[in-house]
Amino acid sequence: MKRERFLQLLKSVYGARDDAEEMGCSDFFELLPRYVDGVLEVSPGASTELPEVTHHIEQCPECAEAYQALLEMARADR
Ligand SMILES: [Zn+2]
Repeated sequence: MKRERFLQLLKSVYGARDDAEEMGCSDFFELLPRYVDGVLEVSPGASTELPEVTHHIEQCPECAEAYQALLEMARADR
């Protein structure tokens, strides 16, 4: 599955959720591709610029899972 396709799917599954958290899951998925690039050092520093993404991963098990899946996918892509 393509990364973009996967993200679209995630957004459709989780995007509608509206939690009481600081950052919603839909915001998380907006920032996630950039964050993953930062983690993989495609764009160094990008992940440390996004502390709210790290925070959300810690708070939200579903998004943590999605993050792991995307990370794996991005790694396999390279
Ligand atoms: Zn979430």
